[in-house]
Amino acid sequence: MSRVFNFSAGPAALPTEVLERAGEELLDWNGSGTSVMEMSHRGKDFMSIAAKAEADLRELMAIPDNYKVLFLQGGASSQFAMVPINLLGDKKTADYLLTGQWSKKAIAEAKRYCEVNIVADTSDSKFTTVPAEASLKFNPDAAYVHYTPNETIVGVEFPYIPDTGDVPLVADMSSTILSRPIDVSKFGIIYAGAQKNIGPAGLTIVIIRQDLIGKAKHNTPAMFDYKTHADTDSMYNTPPTYGWYLAGLVFEWLKQKGGLQGMAEINQKKAEKLYAAIEASDFYSSPVDKSCRSWMNVPFVLADSELDAKFLQEAAKQNLVTLKGHRSVGGMRASIYNAMPAEGIDALVDFMAAFEKSYA
Ligand SMILES: *Cc1c(COP(=O)(O)O)cnc(C)c1O
Repeated sequence: MSRVFNFSAGPAALPTEVLERAGEELLDWNGSGTSVMEMSHRGKDFMSIAAKAEADLRELMAIPDNYKVLFLQGGASSQFAMVPINLLGDKKTADYLLTGQWSKKAIAEAKRYCEVNIVADTSDSKFTTVPAEASLKFNPDAAYVHYTPNETIVGVEFPYIPDTGDVPLVADMSSTILSRPIDVSKFGIIYAGAQKNIGPAGLTIVIIRQDLIGKAKHNTPAMFDYKTHADTDSMYNTPPTYGWYLAGLVFEWLKQKGGLQGMAEINQKKAEKLYAAIEASDFYSSPVDKSCRSWMNVPFVLADSELDAKFLQEAAKQNLVTLKGHRSVGGMRASIYNAMPAEGIDALVDFMAAFEKSYA
């Protein structure tokens, strides 16, 4: 069996150790004689899996007790709607930072429910920058402030957490959650689709401060009300059980790797090595401003875009796959989430140098 180095932005690579363990447990979980996929979500076996996963996530992220952790479906894209539906209350406006394609989608969805106040807009730079911290002027009457700490498509990551005072800060952390320690208490809501840095697609994690639950209007569908899920420990209906289990295996793996501090050190080294290789040559370049380059998604372009197809073809021969940039940006993008080992970066950097030698 041979596994490639998979640089997909999402669904992304999972740690091989996690997949091996899932394989070992596939037909018979812990002597139960069944697969986790075949278990009742209300039975004691699955309840123990669910509780362990939540406890491990709480430990990894040091989630304070006044926050609920919800294991939902619908992807981060459902949160684009659930956030305004649940947080507006009697307010009519919300603040949004427009810094890339994902925040743009979140804004489009919020506009169905409220007046959206765009606090910052980096579209002039083609989303290759983030707003200066001092330039952000928030509306004190906003129901919440929403931003995207890591814009997956352009590879832009905020080097700071915006200070919104008493207004709850909502973050779409789909592509940066678990990549380093963060202070959860600075946020009202953190949400993430699982398929980048948590587990398989189909699971969405929402970390929400308890006082923000229970403000949805009475005609809100039960499935779109955080209170429904908070009151039932995410078991109002059938949760994405297998995704929840696999996420739990990833959390155990992260704990073995030294938790988020350990991951942060590895991730920083990986990213620095790749950016250094891009910087060192005139053949490759990064479109993103140095102050806000993502640790997780590293876009780069070749000086001669005619060589793009050749690059991808030759890379695939070296087992380096899914490096094609997003269709809206072009070039290449290496997504290097937690599951990408340092050897994958070494192999990519070596390949880039060899390709340059042959084709520059
Ligand atoms: C991938 C991604 C999304 C979309 O997630 P879905 O789970 O497919 O809805 C939203 N925001 C960010 C930052 C992403 O990276």
